[in-house]
Amino acid sequence: MRESCGVFGVYAPGEDVARLTFFGLFALQHRGQESAGIATTDGKKIRVYARMGLVSQVFDEDSLSHLVGHIAIGHNRYSTRGSSLRANAQPILVGKGSNTIAIAHNGNIVNAEPLYKELSEQGYTFHTSADTEVIANLILSSHEKNWVDKIRYAMHRLQGAYSLGIMTRHSLFAVRDPFGVRPLCLGAIDGGWVVASESCALDHIGARFIREIEPGEIVSISENGVDSYQEEVGRRALCIFEYIYFARPDSVINGRLLYSARLAMGEELAEEYPVDAGLVMGVPDSATAAGIGYSHRSNIPLGEGLLKNRYVGRTFIEPDQRIRDLGVKLKFNPLPQMLNGKRVVMVDDSIVRGTTTPQVVKLVRRGGAREVHMRICAPPIRYPCFFGVDMATRRELIAAQKTIPEVKDFIGADSLGYLSIDGLIKAVALPKDIFCMACFTGEYPIPVQLEMDKLALETTTPQQAPFAIKER
Ligand code: SF4
Repeated sequence: MRESCGVFGVYAPGEDVARLTFFGLFALQHRGQESAGIATTDGKKIRVYARMGLVSQVFDEDSLSHLVGHIAIGHNRYSTRGSSLRANAQPILVGKGSNTIAIAHNGNIVNAEPLYKELSEQGYTFHTSADTEVIANLILSSHEKNWVDKIRYAMHRLQGAYSLGIMTRHSLFAVRDPFGVRPLCLGAIDGGWVVASESCALDHIGARFIREIEPGEIVSISENGVDSYQEEVGRRALCIFEYIYFARPDSVINGRLLYSARLAMGEELAEEYPVDAGLVMGVPDSATAAGIGYSHRSNIPLGEGLLKNRYVGRTFIEPDQRIRDLGVKLKFNPLPQMLNGKRVVMVDDSIVRGTTTPQVVKLVRRGGAREVHMRICAPPIRYPCFFGVDMATRRELIAAQKTIPEVKDFIGADSLGYLSIDGLIKAVALPKDIFCMACFTGEYPIPVQLEMDKLALETTTPQQAPFAIKER
């Protein structure tokens, strides 16, 4: 399962905003590894540099030195292979003259297709296949007089998930959709302001966390200071997978440190599914904290049964089928000294298609484990995501097709326990009604999704579907 994109922005006259953004994007690299980009403005001109690759591959001294100005936005992108194009790398620049904006987007617009048709009929042209360009053109199509009202107009027309960094020649805007599906926060540095998908990016550049940007909020940052405009919000729908897997454990969302939430998920799993075992291990890195939690609560010793090769990037292993078939062997190496003859509790974040988990179980058995008891921090995923998470079709989701005992047999584990929804909410320690949990429950927060052809839910993936559910 992959998430889609990290957003960063900085307003800091007198600072090297491009370099600050570069380090911010570094901290957000886990949110997208296919392309990276930075746009800056000096008040006269907006410059953009965006390429395919990791942040460290895209930028060098030369490219950063051309990105001058006092405002910057940056973006890390994840996309499916089909739309992995240079043209889709963000930030994208849309408009002409003083009516130009640079935009960086994390999320997914559900009604992008009808908006695209409407804007095309009005003469707006599109150079990418990303719904982000629909957002940008929608803002530019507004007849309102100022940028805040133009953005407001777009927010009233858009349906879906969007955490945005938007830059004009003179201002930086941070915008979060009324559901608050993806996180976005505000920070301060000496003489300036920072916005970021996650608070860990603020820490790395020495910025101070100020607050979350609220669902339905527009934050405007300019020479006049920081202003906030709040749109009406109804149901909130923060993606609970930010807590389970997407966000970095050292980030804080809604006042809850992700590391603590994951630790508590492991503790809840130990309560819900106790087992007599000699070793607890979390699948690195996403389930490391949950493994510690399980060990704490169960008093079963914690150890590392798998070591992760952290430098195998997706970019390098994708193109070659033969190498891709090596699968988890490229990623993990078992430690027989830890596993030999033991009954092992292995904690992981989630099971989506069920293609990786059997390989990991096999590796641990090959390392000498006598028994493998899988414990999963997410409840069974039975419905696809239409909010921009590249997950699977309903047909491909293993928990939609098999009972839990059948999944256990399929992955080759001796026992399997999925954390309950109540256990998950207890671990996250926030009100249940602020979250989207549609991939567990099928209760999609956006009406248009409920109206989708049932067949589409059965057969369509976000990447196969029409424009409406393409990713950025
Ligand atoms: S459906 Fe699942 S993955 Fe998608 S936004 Fe909702 S909780 Fe997140």
